[in-house]
Amino acid sequence: MEPVPEDWERALAIVAHPDDLEYGGSTAVAKWTSQGKSVVEVLATRGEAGIDSMEPEEVARVRSAEQVQAARAVGVETVEFLDLPDGTLEYGLPLRRVLAEAIRRHRPDVVISLNYRETWPGGQGFNMADHRVLGLAVADAIRDAANRWVFRDLGLEPWQGTRFALFASSPNPTHYVDVTGHLAAGVASLKAHKVYFDNLGQDFDPEAFLGGIVAEAGRQVGVTHAMPFEMISG
Ligand SMILES: [Zn+2]
Repeated sequence: MEPVPEDWERALAIVAHPDDLEYGGSTAVAKWTSQGKSVVEVLATRGEAGIDSMEPEEVARVRSAEQVQAARAVGVETVEFLDLPDGTLEYGLPLRRVLAEAIRRHRPDVVISLNYRETWPGGQGFNMADHRVLGLAVADAIRDAANRWVFRDLGLEPWQGTRFALFASSPNPTHYVDVTGHLAAGVASLKAHKVYFDNLGQDFDPEAFLGGIVAEAGRQVGVTHAMPFEMISG
């Protein structure tokens, strides 16, 4: 794995659900905001279909608030919600359009998202549709945003400045961020999803989970803690 270049100013994180960024991505975000970089979060949904025992309206309210707290824990001020339907995201032009609109508005140097592939690292489990659909649409929307002849009705200037996209938790990582010193902030952001974890129906230890990932990747690249990403160059 190669180090992720850090000579940039603005990042836009786009994910499907509250908590998607916090399984590792936000630990790198904590480092970048501490360097003075600007990071904005865009959530496609409010995660309203994520808790079996609670009504979606209530879950949307709780999980939106938890996401804002998680963002604050890693130095992110701005969190936007696109209010698309949790659990039933569809790949297609409407999704690419709304993501291209966000990219043209925020004009990021770097886009951060979550694994769009069918499996997780180690071939574990089958990645859910929302993650596959959203991640793929993010990669495509970066090109859409750059093309002045695509989505002309948005009335926004094209944005051709996105250098690369980073996908956390990919089974095919190509790059890493040295996050040594930022694990605590990452853990705090993950722990912000308290109501969600309390209703998972199984024990989950944010510290052990995140600590294990960054320690293992750190061993591979020769630093204390590292977060792996799959990079797609713009
Ligand atoms: Zn998710």
